[in-house]
Amino acid sequence: MKSNHTRKNIITLPNQNLRKRSYRVHVITDETLQLVDDMLATALDWEASRPYEMAVALAAVQINRLERVIIIREDFDNKDNQNFIVLINPEIIKKEGKIITDQEGCLSVKDIYGLVPRHEKVRVKAIDINGNEVRIKSSNPFLSRILQHEIDHCNGKCFVDHITHQKTAFSILSDNGDLKPINYDDIIKMGILKND
Ligand SMILES: [Zn+2]
Repeated sequence: MKSNHTRKNIITLPNQNLRKRSYRVHVITDETLQLVDDMLATALDWEASRPYEMAVALAAVQINRLERVIIIREDFDNKDNQNFIVLINPEIIKKEGKIITDQEGCLSVKDIYGLVPRHEKVRVKAIDINGNEVRIKSSNPFLSRILQHEIDHCNGKCFVDHITHQKTAFSILSDNGDLKPINYDDIIKMGILKND
């Protein structure tokens, strides 16, 4: 299917739809397939505009569609491989292993990175684009982090919501691709933190 989606379709914080729970997909229709193609087009168009980053994953809410659909890059080490795995109604059924704190970014939080603690291993259940059940057992900390980040999106949670009372956990991507510390007051001014 063709898509006219581009990076301009990405919504960013403080858009409050990013803090809403997405709905389960009950039947996979042509509209679902179009949604997936729109997500793929958006992710790849975004990547083409970002010299230092890779579009590793995207959740439907990030293009303002409150449906529980996520896409995850098949190969994180090779930008030329533009294939993504599609997971519908993904759920974490188990979190295991150590808690690892590492840098995380998001297409919906432009240029800001933060240190987020995540489990190193997860088990995920979902359905694929054909409606078949898929189970993923990840012991790769990076894949586990991405799965947790994207499934959080389906539940209205952004990575910044995991960073509380840690004023030095945020960084900003500079023009040369390095992460530089950013003043916590500037993060507050951006309006990206949850006020609850
Ligand atoms: Zn994200």
